[in-house]
Amino acid sequence: MTYGGVRRAALALAAAVCLPAMAQAPAGTEPRFVVVLDAAHGGADTGGHSSEWTEKSLTLVLSVRLRSLLNARGIPVVTTRESDVALDGEKRDEIANHANAQACVSLHATLTGTGVHLFASSLAAVAQTRFMPWKTAQAGWVTRSVAFEGVTNSVLQQSGLEVTVGRTALPVVDSMTCPAIAVEVGPDKSATGTPAESLSDASYQARVADALAAAIVEWRSEGPHLNGSGPGGSGTGAGQP
Ligand SMILES: [Zn+2]
Repeated sequence: MTYGGVRRAALALAAAVCLPAMAQAPAGTEPRFVVVLDAAHGGADTGGHSSEWTEKSLTLVLSVRLRSLLNARGIPVVTTRESDVALDGEKRDEIANHANAQACVSLHATLTGTGVHLFASSLAAVAQTRFMPWKTAQAGWVTRSVAFEGVTNSVLQQSGLEVTVGRTALPVVDSMTCPAIAVEVGPDKSATGTPAESLSDASYQARVADALAAAIVEWRSEGPHLNGSGPGGSGTGAGQP
């Protein structure tokens, strides 16, 4: 195993063994519900782009807006980037996995198609263990990720957004040790302008961010992620001493 492999394995281990520490919160306090927002792309990696639009800019706008909406509801947020910087997938996962989060959202955008596309990892679920291989660490959380995807789907639909759900192989999400989804924002189906104009429209951005914030608040309120007894609770999650 390479040095990098050892380090990655150790980080996945650290994230896995961090969970029980949540049970040691002082009596009468709830474990903190923390959210990780990952604005995909950045720096030289523009992601999708046209002459007047870049994916990397929109993901950062959505991350900043969503963070402030969640902070206003008392939800702490950890972001993978706060500016137009390049970040590799491993660094994003290190940040996410150190946060011991109950929801991780990787934000993407696309000029093609319409509506919001939600993806959970296509990894097959396995029980969480103290040692999760880095590249497939999400397998221990994927059942809860699919549940989180379902909650997000229903809240976004209730807000009037067009939504599709799916599962796919996503290297960044596949290494996350948290309930994790990728959100790919496409143009508003009812927009009259170009796809870039739709995605640049502040009111559409606000609708998407508001709906995502509402989905995360709903996910928090459902609570199974806090005691490990809900769907996908494997017996080694948070709350087990
Ligand atoms: Zn992307």
